Amino acid sequence: GEDRKVFLVTGGAGFIGSAVVRHLIAKTQHAAVVVDKLTYAANLDSLASVSGDPRYAFIKADILDTKRIAQILDTVRPDVIMHLAAESHVDRSIDGPADFIQTNIVGTGSMLQAALGFWRTLGETEKKRFRFHHVSTDEVFGSLETEGLFTEDSPYRPNSPYAASKAGADHLARAWYRTYGLPIVMSNCSNNYGPCQFPEKLIPLMILNCLEGKPLPIYGSGENVRDWLYVGDHAEALVSVAEGGAIGDSYNVGGNAERSNIAVVRLICGLMDRHAPLSSGERYSHLITHVEDRPGHDQRYAIDSTRIRTEIGWAPSETFESGLDATVRWYLENRSWWEPIRAGTYRGERLGIVS
Ligand code: NAD
Repeated sequence: GEDRKVFLVTGGAGFIGSAVVRHLIAKTQHAAVVVDKLTYAANLDSLASVSGDPRYAFIKADILDTKRIAQILDTVRPDVIMHLAAESHVDRSIDGPADFIQTNIVGTGSMLQAALGFWRTLGETEKKRFRFHHVSTDEVFGSLETEGLFTEDSPYRPNSPYAASKAGADHLARAWYRTYGLPIVMSNCSNNYGPCQFPEKLIPLMILNCLEGKPLPIYGSGENVRDWLYVGDHAEALVSVAEGGAIGDSYNVGGNAERSNIAVVRLICGLMDRHAPLSSGERYSHLITHVEDRPGHDQRYAIDSTRIRTEIGWAPSETFESGLDATVRWYLENRSWWEPIRAGTYRGERLGIVS
């Protein structure tokens, strides 16, 4: 029969986690159990399309609650733990690093410890089948100049509190494999974009500011370069690493789509001009405003994803242009997802001009 695995997805109510769960339910035979604390960044509406499926379940829990997590693992008995729960916004980590240290470092440590306890209770066959997939970012590698790419062997040189907390988590995951033999796989991905992304991140922030006629704040000159990957492509990559990755290895995941921030914002403005033209006949690009640069702002990230492409056979299916078009249209067509966020929860903190 079909090989049905139970995936326990921490952070499954967030941006990438919910895309993984939608992918698992729509495109695979596997089951998905979400474990999420429901911080400001979570949105259960992102899981509405799977909420009636018998292969899906949701559990509200904090990964820092070690007893509760151990009980959950004993009850759910996952074949795969995909660990995405994290504080994820660089600007917030600059303003308040404490939650990042707690959730990203201490929380990952306690997930690993709980997973190890559970794994040790398994029989030989289940033990071999089990995977703990730790999900991380390319920001752990620091910043590149104009040349070069991050490989899996690039040195760790995190610059922001967010990146440092993720780097700490990555080191813990590696150690739980090397020291205790817990079957870990790991992946480090470039910037994601797509449906259901909280509008503090660059792309949804710019789309919604366009719609509300607000300034489009660009850090410094806007020449910082990021590699962009469509979240649906990342979700597919994650499931393929969880199933086909070599134990103890890490995989870099990227979109081969390096763009400067200003180029991204100009593209968004062009798509908005096409899909939601201003009645005044003006162009959205008139809203672009340069603001003071982020402290310690990394110049460039770029990913060499040869290993996942050649060893696992994954490749993205969206180009940056097709994915961005789909994303702009999703925000235009899904006001009920983001209007409550814009109305109340998010006040724009560092970018005070946003609210
Ligand atoms: P997100 O902020 O959208 O979602 C994070 C989720 O984790 C939320 O649902 C939140 O409620 C949950 N969470 C936070 N603290 C928790 C806790 N203590 N216990 C339980 N749940 C908790 O983040 P995202 O953009 O979906 O990122 C997911 C993961 O992927 C993170 O580990 C992030 O570092 C990594 N990543 C993100 C990107 C990106 O571009 N967004 C790129 C590479 C890697």
